[in-house]
Amino acid sequence: MTTPGKMVVISGPSGAGKSTVCRRILEDPRVRFSVSATTRPMREGEVDGRDYYFLSTANFRERIEKGDFIEYADVFGNLYGTLRGPMQAALEEGKDYLMEIDVQGALQIKNQGIPGLYIFIAPPDFEELRRRLVGRGTESPEVVERRLQKAEDEYRERVRYDHVVINDELESCLAEVRRLMGLVQDGESHS
Ligand code: 5GP
Repeated sequence: MTTPGKMVVISGPSGAGKSTVCRRILEDPRVRFSVSATTRPMREGEVDGRDYYFLSTANFRERIEKGDFIEYADVFGNLYGTLRGPMQAALEEGKDYLMEIDVQGALQIKNQGIPGLYIFIAPPDFEELRRRLVGRGTESPEVVERRLQKAEDEYRERVRYDHVVINDELESCLAEVRRLMGLVQDGESHS
């Protein structure tokens, strides 16, 4: 029996561990990743079309005008958006469509009444979040502070989601997300 595809929004503050959770969830062939478009520069190891579609600001704005995005948001000075076309295709194929987006974007989708599973990944506490953001080493101290401030604001929005999963231990967080998505039956383990 094939289940009709559903949209799954994984959201939460930067540094809460969304990317790692999504990477692991995507090991399941029933799930397809929503490749977002962004205007931020490519990081080392990233691949255009796999991690993001890297667009110029002009090109991104053109696509906003054309109505290509379900949502888009300015995140730390760069534009990020979810493309409408690939999502429709995946859902028609019966895939679960996994989006890893920030809180502004998730709430835009929710406000449009688009049905789906809305999961908020929360950091265990803000000191831990600070350690993760600093430890990642990709951002300057000012950027880390800005992200922490934004994370605190976003944390208040968790009540608008269907589920809040605290990422204090990756494997148990993953088990919970898989259970919520219906990828495992209750009691079934998955390594
Ligand atoms: P990064 O630049 O570190 O890959 O992502 C920065 C933030 O942008 C993360 O919180 C990520 O979830 C968010 N993001 C990635 N893609 C999208 C998108 O399509 N829409 C929105 N609203 N946020 C996104």
